[in-house]
Amino acid sequence: MTAPLAATQPGDIAAAAQIEKRPLERYVAPAKPSLVGLPRDALAESLGAAGVPERQRRMRVQQVWHWLYVRGAQDFDEMTTLSKELRAELARHFTLARPEIAAEQVSVDGTRKWLIRLPGEIAGRPHEVECVYIPETDRGTLCISSQVGCTLNCSFCHTGTQRLVRNLTPGEIVGQVVLARDRLADWQRAAAPAGAEPEKRLVSNVVMMGMGEPLYNFEAVRDGLGVVADGEGLSISKRRITLSTSGVVPNIARAGTEIGVMLAVSLHAVTDELRNELVPLNRKYPLRELLDACRNYPGLSNARRITFEYVMLKGINDSLADARALLRLLKGIPAKINLIPFNPWPGSKYECSDWEQIEKFSEVVFNAGYASPVRTPRGRDILAACGQLKSATEKLPARERLALRAMTMTD
Ligand code: SAH
Ligand code: SF4
Repeated sequence: MTAPLAATQPGDIAAAAQIEKRPLERYVAPAKPSLVGLPRDALAESLGAAGVPERQRRMRVQQVWHWLYVRGAQDFDEMTTLSKELRAELARHFTLARPEIAAEQVSVDGTRKWLIRLPGEIAGRPHEVECVYIPETDRGTLCISSQVGCTLNCSFCHTGTQRLVRNLTPGEIVGQVVLARDRLADWQRAAAPAGAEPEKRLVSNVVMMGMGEPLYNFEAVRDGLGVVADGEGLSISKRRITLSTSGVVPNIARAGTEIGVMLAVSLHAVTDELRNELVPLNRKYPLRELLDACRNYPGLSNARRITFEYVMLKGINDSLADARALLRLLKGIPAKINLIPFNPWPGSKYECSDWEQIEKFSEVVFNAGYASPVRTPRGRDILAACGQLKSATEKLPARERLALRAMTMTD
């Protein structure tokens, strides 16, 4: 016998609407599609559509893949291992277009920020997302977006205030990495001699901490990150890719098995009461369920920890009692803790915790055996977060650069 369906009360709908907005999926794909970002099987199909016979497809996919993701080809004519005829045929059907750059900012320390324009709905305005590159001595991290806007409404996040939401396609997700490598001239320019060590790339790490909730755009994120991690292409290993989620519990295990990248969880509060307010998705998936999902994250070990993000909000979640409660909550979970100084935006109702308080909080966490939970040097100014990059149109200020650093330090 099936249980009768519970009638939906008007109050339920209102409550649900506070938690999530619906994504808008109408947008105009370009007339000639780009091959950038297609997973291998979709690329094989596309080559088939351009007349490549079945028996040649595997080899052709391999060749095109190399040109796209190792050599960074921007034109079919660069693909000199393909015949002229095939190159012309491919160009008749497809492009190698990347997402369009609307603006680029380069800072003295090498941090770069790109405003990316994506197609909008029919006759509508195009959509914009941001992508940031943060160079460090031992790595270069690219912070990418998974959605235009976000269906969730975290009360401290500027992205959450945006009404419009659209999922990025795998091509647009991969396109951000390809575009960064283009702008940084980070491609292997010549064929490597046999047996040579792979060259070191500038973009060595990727964090999905820009706009959007990646686990609400699951398939596109999975397929896109699969292309980014492919060892014969962009080759950014899954250990160097971190996906940040606000806690979409049913998709966390799936992320472990189907995507297999490092996980970061936006925790931000140690009680359901407060987390309901900061991350309203908590009303759907409360702390206990979220932490159970983390405990059971496939592949979790001391060498492969979950990063717990904790935004420091003055007088809200930053007491030392909160710090101790945080330690109790995470007990038994192989974890890293990343304290992110809150970056205020016009109209935000929170303030960033005082630096002294962040240090004290950090000390409690550090004394419990977690390595330096705040990575910014003492006394430095407050930081910003990728999550609300689109709002900042001015030149990338030092405090924002430092902010980005703090949040993208996941290993
Ligand atoms: N939607 C995903 C990933 C994007 S947000 C998530 O929520 O995890 C990436 C990180 O930036 C999250 O930890 C988010 O809580 C944090 N963040 C958002 N707005 C912020 C702000 N104003 N100051 C500091 N961190 C912020
Ligand atoms: Fe969305 Fe993440 Fe911002 Fe919450 S913090 S509104 S989930 S982007």
